[in-house]
Amino acid sequence: MATATQDSKTNEQLKIADQYGAHNYHPLPVIVESGEGCWVTDVEGNKYLDMLAAYSALNFGYSNERLIAAATKQLNKVTLTSRAFHNDQLGPFCKDLCELTGYECVLPMNSGAEAVETAVKMARKWGYKVKGIEEGKAEVICARGNFHGRTTTIVSFSTDAQYRDGFGPFTPGFPLVPFGDVAALEKAINKNTAAFLVEPIQAESGILVPPDGYIRKVRELCTKNNVLFIADEIQTGLCRTGDRFAWQHDGADARPDAMCLGKALGGGVVPISAVVSSRAIMSVFNPGDHGSTFGGNPLACAVGRVAVDMIKNDGLDKRSKELGTYFKSKLQAVGATAVKEVRGRGLLIGVQIKENYPKARWFCEKFMDDGILCKDAHDDVIRFAPPLIIEKSDIDWAMERIGPVLMSASANG
Ligand SMILES: *Cc1c(COP(=O)(O)O)cnc(C)c1O
Repeated sequence: MATATQDSKTNEQLKIADQYGAHNYHPLPVIVESGEGCWVTDVEGNKYLDMLAAYSALNFGYSNERLIAAATKQLNKVTLTSRAFHNDQLGPFCKDLCELTGYECVLPMNSGAEAVETAVKMARKWGYKVKGIEEGKAEVICARGNFHGRTTTIVSFSTDAQYRDGFGPFTPGFPLVPFGDVAALEKAINKNTAAFLVEPIQAESGILVPPDGYIRKVRELCTKNNVLFIADEIQTGLCRTGDRFAWQHDGADARPDAMCLGKALGGGVVPISAVVSSRAIMSVFNPGDHGSTFGGNPLACAVGRVAVDMIKNDGLDKRSKELGTYFKSKLQAVGATAVKEVRGRGLLIGVQIKENYPKARWFCEKFMDDGILCKDAHDDVIRFAPPLIIEKSDIDWAMERIGPVLMSASANG
């Protein structure tokens, strides 16, 4: 299908980006010009099925009519007030998000990393002011293999060597425990523990799904020890894994004390993130303690309200569960010897490639040539996370191409 690297418009764009942009990414050589539903068109006119969905920020696909209409309407009214004044979108957005999530209070930011930073500050302050931890001693326990963003504090608790290399000195106060291991968490908790911060499924680490019941046991342990349980649902939330939020897989009593949300919260149109929690916990923040110039801006809130409404009413959780199960079974049914494991939940699927086979990136480049865009998560996992509005027929179309590529990979080839 696409012969992107030989085409002149593509090459021209690749050259400009290479010359003038920082080289902090290694994108596939496709220059997207427009998108509609689950499909994008590049500058040569080639069409591709998007199976990454901007790391789950595009759960509603491209050019969603309702999102674009809300954005356009708000663009023509007011886009930014700063938090020095109120605006008529922020309050309703917070209300809608509370009703969706079952929490009492929202603190809006912009990027996912900012939501995580907010949660860390909230946990530390709660630790000192409410739990009574000695000044300067508060700890937030994190899981090995985590991905919570890219700020200097957040990479301080990353276990990925590349994410840290050259960026020290690091922020202290973040002990690490193995992901999925409740006993290790129990051992790590002490009188200075303010919170446990964890992703219900570790997506960037290669779609790692913890044992059933893990989140519920974390909840119990945190309650027992007066420790806040904070779930990073930035990628797994908003119907991606077949539930509205991934922690719900373990039942209603697994509810965290706070969630970080982002990505799809802005409908793939604007950046907006949030921490949601109880009024009691969020009350550690007083005016002037924390904030953001663009946080809670009326444009983002207007779009976010539509995103929240669609999560609530469009049955995307059920769709994600059903189509995810279907897609996963199709991937398993290929029976390619290159594949070590197909795993995931809902439409968050990882295909792990065996060690002596080509790297996941090799497969992603082949898929691109066949009109499918997806991305590796670490060296050995292909991540499939299409927009949740994908049709079964799109998955069938994709499988006609994915199957042969998986079969074509040979050991040590
Ligand atoms: C993407 C992501 C983040 C960071 O979000 P940004 O908007 O890129 O800052 C944090 N946590 C998880 C689980 C993510 O997937």
